[in-house]
Amino acid sequence: MQTQEVDVLVIGAGPSGSVAAGIIKKAGYNVHMVEKEKFPRFVIGESLLPRCMEALEEAGLLDAVKAKGFQQKFGAKFLRKDDICDFNFDEQFTEGFSWTWQVPRGDFDQTLAEEVQRKGVNIHFETTVTDIKFSGSNSTTTIIDKDGAISEIKAKFIVDSSGYGRVIPRLFNLDKPSNLPPRKSLFAHVNDPKRDLHNEPNRIMILVHQPQTWIWVIPFSTGVTSVGFVGSPEFFNEHKDKTPEAQLRYLINSEPHLKERFGNETFMFEPKTLEGWSITTEQFFGDGFVLTGNVTEFLDPMFSSGVTLATASSQRAANLVIKQLEGNTVNWDEEFVKPTMQGVDVFRTYVMGWYDGTLHDIFFTKDINPEIKKQICSVLAGYVWDTDNPFVKKHDRVVKSLSEFLRMNNPSEIV
Ligand SMILES: Cc1cc2nc3c(=O)[nH]c(=O)nc-3n(C[C@H](O)[C@H](O)[C@H](O)COP(=O)(O)OP(=O)(O)OC[C@H]3O[C@@H](n4cnc5c(N)ncnc54)[C@H](O)[C@@H]3O)c2cc1C
Repeated sequence: MQTQEVDVLVIGAGPSGSVAAGIIKKAGYNVHMVEKEKFPRFVIGESLLPRCMEALEEAGLLDAVKAKGFQQKFGAKFLRKDDICDFNFDEQFTEGFSWTWQVPRGDFDQTLAEEVQRKGVNIHFETTVTDIKFSGSNSTTTIIDKDGAISEIKAKFIVDSSGYGRVIPRLFNLDKPSNLPPRKSLFAHVNDPKRDLHNEPNRIMILVHQPQTWIWVIPFSTGVTSVGFVGSPEFFNEHKDKTPEAQLRYLINSEPHLKERFGNETFMFEPKTLEGWSITTEQFFGDGFVLTGNVTEFLDPMFSSGVTLATASSQRAANLVIKQLEGNTVNWDEEFVKPTMQGVDVFRTYVMGWYDGTLHDIFFTKDINPEIKKQICSVLAGYVWDTDNPFVKKHDRVVKSLSEFLRMNNPSEIV
């Protein structure tokens, strides 16, 4: 059997894996990646947040993405019937990027992977990890390629960025249920020639369809727009006798904000369904490995935190891997787990606040204080590590007490 020796093996060539590989390669290490699929491959997660630009920049990937001309994103518009709350990333509390992109992920992830390859990272596409054996922090990973050839990679460190594949948690039984209830999504890419009438495409739109059900509208530079419904499994059960296409067509036509724009437009593929995505793991690191991106914890698509948390965690992990390979001691709990969870927990508050209606009170109140709006805008831009921002530092308490204050003072506005 063929055996290769590398410094670092990265599993998965999504944004999390490519950011980790880019940063570790830049420090001069020999990095290999193993990716199960042939690229471009479909994955959901198309609305980015400004904070992820910092990770792309540090990994040396930003210019390659800029060159692709993806749709720029300057904010997010939330709608509930006739109520509108528009967040513009220019008006935020934390200093940082005030824009990002809306991307078909197949093209975006391929751009990142090609750029890390160009920088000298060896990517084994259509190759799957089947086993890992650790001996201290050294490891031997067994991989199998599309032709069935089995080989081994010996590494000093493994970064597991395998997303929904969850390679290390599955091999070592580390999966743990999330504290969020199960949700489901039905989505497609839709032809969108009427986007200009809706003052788009340079931001995403989030619609409250029912109190617990919401819709994303994410225009791409190609003239196609991603439209997805997210709700409880019971919400979708009402339509379970229909084909996915008939279901999505029916739902689009039942939503006044979508009917005229998308009602008769072509779906670019048979609508897809995803469910039960919220999951976490018993441990985020071990001797010789670290988990990044979706493998750590994925919450919910609301607020588009996925790629940002994925790239921020791999940015942090990559720098710690370098520190350890240089012979320094890393306190993985303090330096990786705590800051990673800080970001996840801030978003968890906002996700829970969205579904329990607390955030609807805040977003759709008539005269939200501009300073407060800026602070919330920074959270929505992904700056969830800026503890100077009260909406980050005391996220849980501040969101609840602001909603209670609004309920007491403007009860007629609260639906
Ligand atoms: C309905 C829905 C909507 C979403 N919308 C958004 C959004 O608008 N914005 C956003 O930021 N996030 C969104 N997300 C989340 C987003 O999909 C993920 O957070 C993001 O893709 C995580 O990136 P990653 O690099 O960790 O993993 P991935 O992008 O999943 O990449 C992991 C890679 O690992 C590979 N792999 C898996 N198993 C193996 C194996 N055994 N061997 C080798 N390779 C393997 C996979 O093929 C894949 O290419 C959404 C999620 C859902 C469920």
